[in-house]
Amino acid sequence: MAFEGLADRLQGSIQKIRGKGKVNEADVKEMMREVRLALLEADVNFKVVKSFVKKVSERAVGQEVMQSLTPGQQVIKVVKEELTELMGGQQSQIATAKKPPTVIMMVGLQGAGKTTTTGKLASLLRKKHNRKPLLVAADIYRPAAIKQLETLGKQLSLPVFSMGDQISPVEIAKAGIQKAKDDHQDYVIIDTAGRLHVDEALMDELKQIKELSSPDEIFLVVDAMTGQDAVNVAQNFDDALGITGVVLTKLDGDTRGGAALSIRSVTEKPIKFVGMGEKMDALEAFHPERMASRILG
Ligand code: GDP
Repeated sequence: MAFEGLADRLQGSIQKIRGKGKVNEADVKEMMREVRLALLEADVNFKVVKSFVKKVSERAVGQEVMQSLTPGQQVIKVVKEELTELMGGQQSQIATAKKPPTVIMMVGLQGAGKTTTTGKLASLLRKKHNRKPLLVAADIYRPAAIKQLETLGKQLSLPVFSMGDQISPVEIAKAGIQKAKDDHQDYVIIDTAGRLHVDEALMDELKQIKELSSPDEIFLVVDAMTGQDAVNVAQNFDDALGITGVVLTKLDGDTRGGAALSIRSVTEKPIKFVGMGEKMDALEAFHPERMASRILG
């Protein structure tokens, strides 16, 4: 389960302060020392931890007095608010083009879960938002990626546009968008190629697709289990391409949670969705506040 270790540690630390009728600076300091260690152990980015601890400490010591809460509860409220803020504050909505179709480009490294997430996202758009998505198979390099998307499309009864692996992804994306227009589909989700590492050839191709398809969203799919590597990958993709949001996959297997807690702060791009399993319905909109509540118990 996600955030297991962090949740245990943080809940242990705040438990000590919860019932306190009086909280002094030393109490806050002691709690924040534990919180800091817990966050570092959860693989949260060092700078992010530092600024988080500073913010919470300042607010918790000089906090506004509220009649309804004990001082201990007030400190916990501050921790929760700042944790929510760290993950982006508000839930981030998916863009809608003024003139359909809305184009979403899925990017990411091989194995991150891009193709799976493309299927999941299409399924969610149809189920929750009543949309008609077209899936476009533009990952021509990974053997079986096209077939995988076609299989997902069949399983979900959703249309998939493909042109094999001998045509450039840029052309496939362009033709896919035209197909969506012709068929009055209101979303196009383009599954682009990934590579094992961030490299120039990959970025050049993605930039060309971006230029030609003017996407409304560019979602970077990253594997939560890779921790700070995921944060670096996000930073690299954002610098080179400009992403609009992140989908964090495999959160179901990430017991630490470092990527989820660092990405927003480091890249300033919101986490839009989280993958919670391999099944097609295991994609959830990311709610920072709910996640903070889950961590703090
Ligand atoms: P791609 O190379 O980025 O297109 O990666 P795939 O979509 O083929 O996914 C790689 C592997 O990760 C597959 O075995 C997926 O089932 C798995 N996967 C993707 N998302 C999740 C998730 O949220 N949780 C879990 N547990 N597995 C996932």
